Amino acid sequence: MLDLTHEPPKPKVIQGAKHDWELVIGLEVHAQVASQAKLFSGASTRFGAEPNANVSFVDAAMPGMLPVINEFCVAQAVRTGLGLKAEINLRSAFDRKNYFYPDLPQGYQISQLYAPIVGEGEVLVDMGPGIARRVRIERIHLEQDAGKSIHDMDPNNTFVDLNRTGVALMEIVSRPDLRGPEEAAAYVGKLRQIMRYLGTCDGNMQNGNLRADVNVSVCRPGDYERYQETQDFSHLGTRCEIKNMNSMRFIQQAIDYEARRQIRILEDGGSIEQETRLYDVDKGETRSMRSKEEAHDYRYFPDPDLLPLEIEQAWVNDIATSLPELPDEKKARFVTEYGMTEYDAGVLTADVDNAAYFEEAAAGRDGKLAANWVINELFGRLKKEGHDIGESPISAAHLGQIIDLIGKGDISGKIAKDVFEIAYTTGRAPAEIVETEGMRQVTDTGAIEAAVDEVIAANPAQVEKARANPKLAGWFVGQVMKATGGKANPKAVNEIVTGKLGL
Ligand code: ADP
Ligand code: MG
Repeated sequence: MLDLTHEPPKPKVIQGAKHDWELVIGLEVHAQVASQAKLFSGASTRFGAEPNANVSFVDAAMPGMLPVINEFCVAQAVRTGLGLKAEINLRSAFDRKNYFYPDLPQGYQISQLYAPIVGEGEVLVDMGPGIARRVRIERIHLEQDAGKSIHDMDPNNTFVDLNRTGVALMEIVSRPDLRGPEEAAAYVGKLRQIMRYLGTCDGNMQNGNLRADVNVSVCRPGDYERYQETQDFSHLGTRCEIKNMNSMRFIQQAIDYEARRQIRILEDGGSIEQETRLYDVDKGETRSMRSKEEAHDYRYFPDPDLLPLEIEQAWVNDIATSLPELPDEKKARFVTEYGMTEYDAGVLTADVDNAAYFEEAAAGRDGKLAANWVINELFGRLKKEGHDIGESPISAAHLGQIIDLIGKGDISGKIAKDVFEIAYTTGRAPAEIVETEGMRQVTDTGAIEAAVDEVIAANPAQVEKARANPKLAGWFVGQVMKATGGKANPKAVNEIVTGKLGL
């Protein structure tokens, strides 16, 4: 198997007033499990339902209600773990994390502090052809989401919507291996991509399906290498955690702001307080939310309503055999199988649906040509109109037809663009368009010769010039193409023009 990773990217260096600083970033990503029902109740998880429509007695924490684990959610977490090449723990357990909030009727969140379902794994974060960051995953645990307090619907009241209460989340915790804002955003993008391939999380950031707590610290050049050698955190700076980020752009802005804030404090002789901060999107700055809480603040203890979760290796193996081809493997295969560049392979495999479309359009055809058409014509056009591949008005089979028509010499690449335009706007089949609209390329050399003769006869002065300067033959080719409505085979025209002019 082709290994596309070569070099790690350079860490981002920020110049302070006094000296250089480097960034260290670790992320806790909360990914909503793609499941119809909640983690411990049968209530629906449908997004956009009427407030409090998806709330069972368990979610509302009515006295005496008992949680029942949703096997499908457990399978989704295992699937995600396998997709991140992580250790699966056959025995895990649920703990209560106690805190008060109006949108948390239980008064605690059920989570996995001491024994998570997934252990150490790893993710490759692509930062350009030949450059990738290897990020270690520390753990993935299953936990409940909280409800939503709505503060802006009424001037005097806060409303509570419990639809999200109890929805299953996977918290994916990375080691502090990310070294810049772009890498951190790309890491979230890579997790999203892998989970969309696996079908374990929709990754819709606007709907809050995927959110990240971003831990940021700064250190002096060389410190991070010392941490890597010893795994001793004292070589790193004190971190601050920016809560609940749900946009790649804001993640980058918040990290950049936070790093500069810490550097300013350190260079002024101050020290960083470990704390939880919020990013204010309007002001473009982070501000303190609360000082860092410790595990004992939450009085974690094993949930007495839930037995430890034991799963069987055979069940894990079954899930493993059902995994699809994952992004890194697909990308490497596209490079070798279709002979395309790593860059193009990255574009085509960015989304699982895009990759499937491409493979259908390319089947049995020139892969490079197909890649070109899918990326440059189709994706370009879809992007301009804000559509994704599922909404493409031109099917993969029809795009394949265009590639066939070019391959057979029925249409030139230029005419193909016109055919594409008609097929895109009308949904008609390209082969039929070429026939009915008379767009077939003229390869009949007799017809081309006649057209060339005509142009030569009508332009004796140009003929003289071209004989003195063969570069001017192009003018004749242009004239013949014009005379044939662009349908003449350009290669044939070129050959006949040079022949007839005796160049
Ligand atoms: P907690 O659960 O209290 O937030 P963890 O040890 O689980 O603490 O760490 C949370 C996150 O912080 C992890 O993603 C980890 O990689 C990251 N992290 C730890 N130390 C640092 C540091 N010095 N700089 C940046 N990130 C860090
Ligand atoms: Mg944390």
